[in-house]
Amino acid sequence: MEPNTLAELLPAGVVVTDPDILAGYRQDRALDPDAGTPLALVRPATTEQVSAVLRWAQEHGVPVVPRGAGTGLSGGATAQNGALLLSTERMREITVDPVTRTAVAQPGLLNAEVKRAVADHGLWYPPDPSSFEICSIGGNAATNAGGLCCVKYGVTTDYVLGMQVVLADGTPVRLGGPRLKDSAGLSLTKLFIGSEGTLGVITELTLRLLPAQPPQSTVVASFSTMTAATEAILAITARLRPSMLEFMDAVAINAVEDELRMGLDREAAGMLVARSDAPGEYAAAECALMVALCEKAGASEVFSTEDPQEGEAFTAARRFAIPAVERKGTLLLEDVGVPLPRLGELVTGIAEIAAKHRVLISVIAHAGDGNTHPLIVHDPDDADESARAHVAFGEIMELAIALGGTITGEHGVGRLKKAWLPDQLGPDVMALTRRVKDALDPHGILNPGAIL
Ligand SMILES: Cc1cc2nc3c(=O)[nH]c(=O)nc-3n(C[C@H](O)[C@H](O)[C@H](O)COP(=O)(O)OP(=O)(O)OC[C@H]3O[C@@H](n4cnc5c(N)ncnc54)[C@H](O)[C@@H]3O)c2cc1C
Repeated sequence: MEPNTLAELLPAGVVVTDPDILAGYRQDRALDPDAGTPLALVRPATTEQVSAVLRWAQEHGVPVVPRGAGTGLSGGATAQNGALLLSTERMREITVDPVTRTAVAQPGLLNAEVKRAVADHGLWYPPDPSSFEICSIGGNAATNAGGLCCVKYGVTTDYVLGMQVVLADGTPVRLGGPRLKDSAGLSLTKLFIGSEGTLGVITELTLRLLPAQPPQSTVVASFSTMTAATEAILAITARLRPSMLEFMDAVAINAVEDELRMGLDREAAGMLVARSDAPGEYAAAECALMVALCEKAGASEVFSTEDPQEGEAFTAARRFAIPAVERKGTLLLEDVGVPLPRLGELVTGIAEIAAKHRVLISVIAHAGDGNTHPLIVHDPDDADESARAHVAFGEIMELAIALGGTITGEHGVGRLKKAWLPDQLGPDVMALTRRVKDALDPHGILNPGAIL
């Protein structure tokens, strides 16, 4: 197919075929080695241009892979042979309405840019993936991204009131809007959240905002056993709703300490970083209770601080865990979650899988959500180790399913995890998913190979 006929429909520069530029868009952060060679990259600036691209693609039977900032960890934005890569990076407008406490944002803005724009109006957009400085708000909606404060404030879907989305045939539709309550029709806005580019291209989001977050107090606790750490997590979530409850294991602590040199306890088996944004003196009371619960669970060291900068330094350390562990080798990055009471069994089971397959697996977690990120370290040039790492990757998902959990808490299924999706959803739900996909994208041009 000749991309020139598409270029004629769009302003100059929207369609890019330079192979050197295309090379930078072939993969996301999952670094899928099976990424294909795309036909072209398109960088539309408006919904109308996205419509024109999809009309052309449908007419010519050309697949389209939507792409935000390419930080995805499950291969959802991986290039396919002969496909158009549709990047939203030029769609960057935002308006904020302090009266309805909403923002209308185009998908190419980074999450951090949305946060900054609404903060200028004294407002807050809560969802905060660790990648918030490098991922797009459109990608967040398409993956239903979570993050650190989600344990108290919920995930992306809880903040999307409406959207404009371009369907596979190029039709733009508006769903929802700046209304806090709206029961009209099916919940179609929710259908597109987490659809990973398989049902439509999101070109605008109406986001619900909150008043600025109160200053947070922070508790940091070290544990000499994983069992004590998971006991503390369950004790805290049973009594409180912290604004953050994160976990790092010994490997992650040491990898971060190697880089940041901030005095983390290198001897600890695990570390919790918990925060409270309760108003006034209640934050101190919540922190005191969290300290007591950690001590009761057997923490080897606990301290709390009301200094927001000090607390932010520990939060940044936790956010830095993935890049820090990545310096030890290539990562197969898991995202399994379980109901909280099963967290201990998940962590123990992951350690057993690591021992069985002789691979290094570091566990970090949005612990208060029961959402873990086992990081399987391997050397792709060592075929034997790589094979063992991939077997471990699958077994961790099987373990999560056996514990009543999920193969992905926030990163999405993409291409890396789709082989395990039927085991979690079962045949009836898979068939339903296929019927929804076929109804919205009958020619299968949108992100083929992702999820299904
Ligand atoms: C260091 C690091 C830490 C991370 N921490 C977290 C975390 O704490 N929580 C979390 O949830 N994720 C995390 N992630 C994963 C990633 O940042 C999120 O999945 C993010 O939401 C992806 O956004 P993106 O703009 O990079 O999307 P991309 O990677 O470009 O795309 C992701 C998926 O969305 C689709 N898509 C993108 N834009 C659109 C659109 N406008 N319309 C339709 N489909 C679209 C793509 O086709 C693809 O399937 C982390 C990643 C890294 C590298």
